[in-house]
Amino acid sequence: MTHQATDHDLIEAMPAAVLVLHQGLIVHLNPACVRLLEAGSAHELLGRPVTEFVHSMDQAQSLHRLQRLQPGDDANLSTQIRMLTCKGNFRTLLVNSAPVRYHETDAIVVTAMDMSDQSAMEERLRVSEQNFRRLFENMQDVYYRTNAQGVVQMVGPGVRRVLGYEPHDIIGRTAESYYPQSSDRDAFKKVIQEKGEASDFPGQMVRADGQIIDISISSHALYDDSGAFCGIEGIYRDVTQRKNLERELQRLATVDSLTGIANRRAFMEQAAQAFSSAQRYPSDLAVLALDLDHFKSINDRHGHAAGDEVLTRFTQAVNTELRESDLFGRLGGEEFCIVLPHADQQKSRQVADRICANMQALRFQDASGQFYTATVSIGIALKRASDRHVLELIERGDKALYQAKRSGRNQVVGDS
Ligand code: GH3
Ligand code: MG
Ligand code: MG
Repeated sequence: MTHQATDHDLIEAMPAAVLVLHQGLIVHLNPACVRLLEAGSAHELLGRPVTEFVHSMDQAQSLHRLQRLQPGDDANLSTQIRMLTCKGNFRTLLVNSAPVRYHETDAIVVTAMDMSDQSAMEERLRVSEQNFRRLFENMQDVYYRTNAQGVVQMVGPGVRRVLGYEPHDIIGRTAESYYPQSSDRDAFKKVIQEKGEASDFPGQMVRADGQIIDISISSHALYDDSGAFCGIEGIYRDVTQRKNLERELQRLATVDSLTGIANRRAFMEQAAQAFSSAQRYPSDLAVLALDLDHFKSINDRHGHAAGDEVLTRFTQAVNTELRESDLFGRLGGEEFCIVLPHADQQKSRQVADRICANMQALRFQDASGQFYTATVSIGIALKRASDRHVLELIERGDKALYQAKRSGRNQVVGDS
């Protein structure tokens, strides 16, 4: 036999808490309300003032709402209040109240929904929002977002430190304005278009004070609901210090620390390049192999520091004879090599003779005040049609140098 639910049954079965108040006292409540207030039974609660269960911070407000409600009024707007259960636990409730006739008297019916879980969720959201804000405000990188046209929509406060601008100076302008080389920006946009993202992408930007800085960008493309490209979002950071360090390390790796000219490895690379371009666009190329004469005895007689001075002043004397495109390297010890692009026999001989003369003219003085001179021997090799590698020229230059040594040093010998 099916049971026809009465209105009373419906209220009893309602998942929302329902209670009826007469002059502020609880006169009726359903099981959901008993559960919400964590009471053992409805009897524990009947006849008690409802304000007993309202958090002291919310008592004035809830009393005011109940007292204001007059017979015939519409229901109060929903509001959140905090309640204390019989077990002393706090609950955040969304409550509604409306005037009713109950057992021939004017009463108020209240419904309540437990929002505690939602409040906890909101609290977590608030905390995470706060954390995000803190991160956003303090991060060393610059967060930015542009629209599809590249106009900046949002930029983090890190931009003050990195570019020296206020965020509002940047918002509404295109990022192009801050790129000294538009090719950097174009290359970045191409990667974003093709891959949808770019990480640690290198580039440069101009600060408000005109200084050019190195940056690294990590960003991704943004798409709208229909899948259309609608902008770019990402971060960039100032990597100038790191780049300077890299440049310095690069320099140290290619430069001879005593003389400041190219070391063996760097010189060999540059020489090979000069050789292949002289092959590609056929042109003359000369290699000079140089070795200081009796250098061991200079060290022996005047000391190692004196030897070092001879090496540095020798390189200075050579440099005055070289053009921008000539290559000069220290292959090791007191052995040097020069590449003269476009130089024929006459030209290379001229340069070599001058180097010999310059060296001979230098006057050195050791720690004891004693003056001495130093000389250099030079072998010349000219590029031949049969040469396949610059090493072949260097080898012939060395042979010519050997001849110069055998013929008495302080002289120039050609390879033919
Ligand atoms: P030659 O005329 O036949 O070239 O004789 P040399 O004495 O110049 O040749 P050798 O190769 O016998 O001696 C080279 C000397 O150069 C030996 C080494 O101690 C010295 N030397 C190598 N590197 C340096 C350096 O960086 N500083 C100084 N002061 N001496 C160096
Ligand atoms: Mg020598
Ligand atoms: Mg030597």
